[in-house]
This record gives sequence, structure tokens and C-alpha cells, in this order.
Amino acid sequence: MNNIAQLIPKFVLNIPEDLEGGILFISGEHRTMIHLCACGCGNEVALPISPIDWRFTFDGETISISPSVGSWSLSCRSHYFIHENQVHWAEDWSDEQIEGGRRRDRLRKDNYYPKLSPLGASTPSAVSHNGKKPAGWAWLSKLKHWITGRFDKK
Ligand SMILES: [Zn+2]
Repeated sequence: MNNIAQLIPKFVLNIPEDLEGGILFISGEHRTMIHLCACGCGNEVALPISPIDWRFTFDGETISISPSVGSWSLSCRSHYFIHENQVHWAEDWSDEQIEGGRRRDRLRKDNYYPKLSPLGASTPSAVSHNGKKPAGWAWLSKLKHWITGRFDKK
């Protein structure tokens, strides 16, 4: 397994089927960032972009992402920050830390979308390579339906 030291941003309309290591694909259309796990395990890591999930800063050349990427659902349990294209490794979290993070996450979401719980946790969703869409899509489209539904009703 080769660690990926750098992730180059690539803005795309649709997420490509085959991801390339070292490239961070960003789709504003799908409000998702997706890349192959920086540990080199080959798993896809999808990060939903929203005020309560991930956000990125692009300075025209490099990209920074916050918060950190913690792939607790993957066997590698990779945890890293992406700052100006560079992958900075963070420590592995204990199960208690992960649970605490998820609890804070849920709390944040409950406050943000009071009527929309339960939502998935904002840990990245790993997808196997069988053409399945990352879990991020599912709740985004749920959210879209909900919003559309609200406007239709009135
Ligand atoms: Zn990995």
C-alpha cells in the first residue's frame, strides 16, 4: 500500500466511474467530493459538501478541506487532514472518540435540520466498486424531495 501524499483537486460535473489515486474530484452539481483513500487501500471516500458536513477552500491552485477525513468505517481507519493539497496524517481515534464525534455530529444535524432526523452520520461513506452511488447521494436526494415536498404542499 502506498500512501498518497498529495491530492490534486479536479472539478467535474459528474463523478467519474473510475477514480484515480491522488485526485480529489469535486462535483458542485452533486455537492460531493470523492477520492481514493490516501492510505492507498483503494477504497473510495465520498465527502458530502454542506454547512454541516465538509467544506473546501480553493485558492486557485490548492485545496483545503475541513473538517478532517476520518474513515472509521474502512478497515484502514485512516484519519487525515487535507491542507493545500497535502495529506497530513492524524492519529487513529479510539472507539470512544469516534462515538463522541458521531454524537456531536448528530447533535449538530438535529439542530440544523430539526425535522429531518435521523440523518446519516457525516463520516465518509465508503463504496465498493460496483457502480453503487455513495451514501451521500441518498440523503441528498432525500433532502431534495423533502424540500420539493414542502414547496409543493402550500
Ligand atoms: Zn484506506
